[in-house]
Amino acid sequence: MAPVDLVRPEIRAERAYRVPTTIEATAKVDQNESPYDLPEAIKRQALDAFAAAPWNRYPDDRPHRLVRALEAKEGLPEGSVIVGRGSNELSHTLALCFLGPGTPVVLPSPMFALYASVARMHGADVIDVPAGPNLRHDADAILRAAQRADAPLTIVTTPNNPTGQTIDHGDLLRLAAGVPGILVIDEAYHEFLDGPTATDVLRAHDNVLVLRTFSKAFGLAGVRLGVLLGHPELIAEMEKSRLPFLVGRLGEEIGLAILDHPGLVAERVDVLKAERATLEASIGALEGVEILPGAANFFLVRTPLAPAELQRRMAERGVLIRDVSGYAALSSRDGTPGWVRVSVGSPEENEATRRAFSEVMGEAS
Ligand code: PMP
Repeated sequence: MAPVDLVRPEIRAERAYRVPTTIEATAKVDQNESPYDLPEAIKRQALDAFAAAPWNRYPDDRPHRLVRALEAKEGLPEGSVIVGRGSNELSHTLALCFLGPGTPVVLPSPMFALYASVARMHGADVIDVPAGPNLRHDADAILRAAQRADAPLTIVTTPNNPTGQTIDHGDLLRLAAGVPGILVIDEAYHEFLDGPTATDVLRAHDNVLVLRTFSKAFGLAGVRLGVLLGHPELIAEMEKSRLPFLVGRLGEEIGLAILDHPGLVAERVDVLKAERATLEASIGALEGVEILPGAANFFLVRTPLAPAELQRRMAERGVLIRDVSGYAALSSRDGTPGWVRVSVGSPEENEATRRAFSEVMGEAS
């Protein structure tokens, strides 16, 4: 048997998650990142603290100071937080804790593709609950599917990637109360929403876990920090599955530094939301272009061009957008082309994006 044949079939069946990370673009609006890097002074603060710590010694088995700071920020009791290397990493923790061969897991679609991939790699039985034509997830359908399958795990995302659509707070509460197992609420983009967060749902229901990330509104995608919130009893069990020393001292210092500057994050979120509205309006006003406004830092666009062709023509103009038509609900069908996703960049990037769309649509008409 060849060595590759020894890799478990569940892994071999998957496609590797690869995104071309071309940074040299006029507008890099394909990964829902923040266009804003940390100010030099805040970087310095974290680097100085890191430089002063011993590099030859292991860090804490878990980054206690960052964990405490996050618990304080959320108003949650001690033991409510696991920090990982990005929330991507924490999706493996979830799978390790709740999924095994044949375990039913409810994953509404379209949804951030990693969840289904990780679930399949653990041999779990993915139960799809497709969104309606408006691409919003239907809480009643999710609830019915979870109850019918007696699913130990149900995952929802709000605002959802790649659609930018939300699930109402009342529906989250209903889901938490009604699912037969754990409800994970991925809130990677919650900073872009007003109103109560899933922390309130978690307070009211002990079967809820909330996933957060430093990669989006905090602008720290390159650092890799993700957060899982839950009730201390559940978190204590899940802690056993987490690899020790996962977040090093540097990541912890950077996380602490940004938490020291909530005003900066809030200000940037406001700018991004205002830019999003302007960009959605200007692109949506172009002849033949349809947009689906988003509640996070991105939105969907479709034009008469096939998504791959649109992506190519935009890239020729230095604008990187994401073809998301690989998701069934966003694919080309019934003669209607599929969707692309556009993240909100800096004002300069947004102007370049608007101009490129305008040129491409001029060419296409
Ligand atoms: N959840 C959602 C909904 C996302 O869109 C992303 C990033 N694209 C992640 C989780 C992962 O974020 P990270 O691993 O950078 O924390």
